[in-house]
Amino acid sequence: MIVLGAGAAGLFAAIEAGRRGRRVLVVDHAAKAGEKIRISGGGRCNFTNLGIAADRFLGRNPRFALSALKRFTARDFIARLEGAGIAWHEKTLGQLFCDGAATQVVDWLLRDLAAAGGVLWTGCALGAVTAAGPGFAVETARGVQQTAAVIVATGGKSIPKMGATGFGYRVAESFGLAVTETRPALVPLTFAEQDLAWMRPLAGVAVQGRVSCGKTGFNEAVLFTHRGLSGPAVLQLSSYWREGQEIALDLCPGLDAAAALRAAKARAGKGHLAGALARLVPERVARHLAEGAGVTGPLAEVPGAVLDRLAAGLHDWRLKPVGTEGYRTAEVTLGGVDTDGLDARTMQAKAVAGLYFVGEVVDITGWLGGYNFQWAWSSGWAAGQVA
Ligand SMILES: Cc1cc2nc3c(=O)[nH]c(=O)nc-3n(C[C@H](O)[C@H](O)[C@H](O)COP(=O)(O)OP(=O)(O)OC[C@H]3O[C@@H](n4cnc5c(N)ncnc54)[C@H](O)[C@@H]3O)c2cc1C
Repeated sequence: MIVLGAGAAGLFAAIEAGRRGRRVLVVDHAAKAGEKIRISGGGRCNFTNLGIAADRFLGRNPRFALSALKRFTARDFIARLEGAGIAWHEKTLGQLFCDGAATQVVDWLLRDLAAAGGVLWTGCALGAVTAAGPGFAVETARGVQQTAAVIVATGGKSIPKMGATGFGYRVAESFGLAVTETRPALVPLTFAEQDLAWMRPLAGVAVQGRVSCGKTGFNEAVLFTHRGLSGPAVLQLSSYWREGQEIALDLCPGLDAAAALRAAKARAGKGHLAGALARLVPERVARHLAEGAGVTGPLAEVPGAVLDRLAAGLHDWRLKPVGTEGYRTAEVTLGGVDTDGLDARTMQAKAVAGLYFVGEVVDITGWLGGYNFQWAWSSGWAAGQVA
């Protein structure tokens, strides 16, 4: 069998199939396997999350993912990782990271692939995949390969510089499978000049805030950048935000900003507004807000109505993003091979025996925090049991 793509999902599927005694060839056009694993999680690979559940995934039918996720769980992956002697820790929100470099994970998977008898061709371009007799013909830079089964694990379109292509979607469509609309996700949001002019002086500042869009919101860090807003809360929201929608930013969730500012005024004496705001938000933001409000005199002289207006703005700052940074920086791709056309237990195309799709190429996208890798491991594992 041939696995197209040597990322997290492809390597895992290949190892499983190899262990079952299948002859496995993995082909990838990139010079090295597992490049996204290597750079993931800030170089420490946030390899899974302890909170795996359907509501942490997006797609036309997120529940499709549950079969594979329940059969090969986060605990199963942790056991494998520990078996390979890789130390890990929980950071926050159930997110598990390696203690050391993410390259350990890539090295371990490549060792397991070799031990399972799998062959890896990197730096090998792929051409058409076509039905040939009972199996498939796969065009590669090293010649046409004949095979009984193909596992497509070529990922999404995110970060083309790292080798991402829409290849898997084209393979799916060429076999008559539907592909849902794709768009960049887990990606910074960008803003028009008038908003940017306000944000730019704060570039580099992170706030423990809440961003929301309609009923969906995330309480995590919000990072101001030269291009707009990033940070975990904003990346999470980007998977739900659509063009034209407004987002609301709460810079001090859980606090009563109006009460805090009025109390500060009552005991202020000669204190200034920026000082009172700095108890609610980081100092740079406090100074910027005070300057923006045009309030210079002692806090005791600032009218209560002005403080109330500022407090309301702190809790409910409305902004309209103009877009996202796109696939150039998106961590994942939303959309992909329509799950309606796949068997949830095996990842096999319902209408094409022997053709499988695993990982990010499928219309299943996880939240930030290890969910996407767990989907890659679990779906790869599921296909590897049968392909
Ligand atoms: C910067 C960054 C950080 C991330 N951090 C995390 C994290 O900490 N935790 C987490 O859960 N997720 C993280 N993700 C998301 C995660 O990396 C992906 O969800 C995951 O790698 C998907 O695995 P995959 O095997 O499906 O696809 P990929 O890992 O993208 O692998 C696809 C492979 O297919 C190859 N390929 C593509 N097109 C072709 C072609 N035409 N011919 C031949 N080969 C091809 C590629 O070279 C690649 O090796 C991160 C993503 C990015 C970009």
